[in-house]
Amino acid sequence: MRYGYLSKADLPKFVDGLIKKQRVVAPIKKENQFVFAQVENASQVSLDYIPTILPPKKFFLPQHETLGSFNMGETKMSSTQVDVEPLILFGLHTCDIEGIECLDVALNDSPPDPYFVKRKKSVIIIGYECMKPCDEYATCIAMDTHKPKAGYDIMLTDAGDKYIVHVNSIAGDNLIGRSSLFEKAAPDLEGKIKAELKALQDAKLKSFNNKLDAEYKELRRVFKDSYSSKFWHENVGKRCLSCGNCTAVCPTCYCFDINDTVSLDVTKGTRDRVWDSCQLEEFAEVAGGESFREERSARQRHRYHRKFDYSVKKFNKFFCVGCGRCTRTCMAKISLIDTVNELTKEHRDAKK
Ligand code: SF4
Ligand code: SF4
Repeated sequence: MRYGYLSKADLPKFVDGLIKKQRVVAPIKKENQFVFAQVENASQVSLDYIPTILPPKKFFLPQHETLGSFNMGETKMSSTQVDVEPLILFGLHTCDIEGIECLDVALNDSPPDPYFVKRKKSVIIIGYECMKPCDEYATCIAMDTHKPKAGYDIMLTDAGDKYIVHVNSIAGDNLIGRSSLFEKAAPDLEGKIKAELKALQDAKLKSFNNKLDAEYKELRRVFKDSYSSKFWHENVGKRCLSCGNCTAVCPTCYCFDINDTVSLDVTKGTRDRVWDSCQLEEFAEVAGGESFREERSARQRHRYHRKFDYSVKKFNKFFCVGCGRCTRTCMAKISLIDTVNELTKEHRDAKK
C-alpha cells in the first residue's frame, strides 16, 4: 500500500497494536508542556501538541553515551556495541522529521558516526502532519518544513473523521501491510488521494502566517551580510545568559564533548560523549586558554550562522526547521523571529 485511509476511531487500535510489537515513543502531555516518552497504551498519546521540550534527537544522539572502554597502558580502546532496541517514533511533526534529516546529513558526513547510523537504522518514524500552527514561535512555513517531504516511514494527515495515510518505505509497509484497520487505495485511486491531500495542504496554508520577513531564498544572503552587524553585540549579545538551552532543545544541534572517566584504582576507564553547546564559554577554548568566541555576541552570531549560512555552504540545507523551541525556552526572551527580521531589515536598508 502507498496511500490509504485510517479511520480516527481506529487510531487507538493501531497504536495499541504497535505497542504490542515493539517499543513506541510518542508525544505525551507533561504538566503544561509535552515530551516524547515511551507509551504503554494509546490513551497516553497526545497528537494535539506543540513542539516537545526536547526534540526527538535524543533517541538518535543521547545526551550521554559510552563510546568505549580502555585499560590503562593499552593503546587501543574497546569498540562498544551500540545497544539498540528497535523503536517506533510515533506522531512526529514534519519540522522534527526535517530536524532528523539534518542530523542524518551531518552525522553521515565522512566519516559517518557509527553510533548514530546504527540507531537511525533501528527507528521507524510515523509522522503526523499538523493542520494548524503550533503557536506564535513556530516558523515552519518560512523554513518550508510544514509539509511532509522525506524522512518518514508512514505519514498521517488529518482529513476530518479519518487520516490520509502515506506509506513511504518498506518498513512502513511491513508495519501496516496486513492490518485490516486500513482502507487501502488501489493504484488507480492514488491520484484521487493525492489531490485530496493537496487540497488539505493548500487550505491549511491560509491559517499559517509567515512570520519571517525574509524570503526563503533571501535568508542566506541576510546572514552572510550580517556578520559585522552591531545587532549581535548591542542586542542578543547583551541579553544572552550563555545558558546553552537554545542549543540543547534545537533538533539540529549535534555538537558534543568527549570525556574520559578513569576508575579509582587508575587501571581502566570509559570514554563518554555528552551534548555540548556553542553557547558555553569554554566551547571554543583551545590549549593555552585562548577562546575564539569569548564574547556572547560572537557565540550567538555563530549559532545563527550555523543555522542559516554555514550549513547551506556545507550541506546545502538550512539547519533551522522552524520549530520555535529556542525562542520558547530562552529565559532572556531572545527571539529567533525578531533576530531574523531585524537583520533582514538591516540587509534591505543597506541595499537602498
Ligand atoms: S537560551 Fe537564550 S539565554 Fe540561553 S544561551 Fe540561548 S539565547 Fe542565550
Ligand atoms: S534554531 Fe530554533 S527554531 Fe530553528 S530548528 Fe533550532 S530550535 Fe528550532
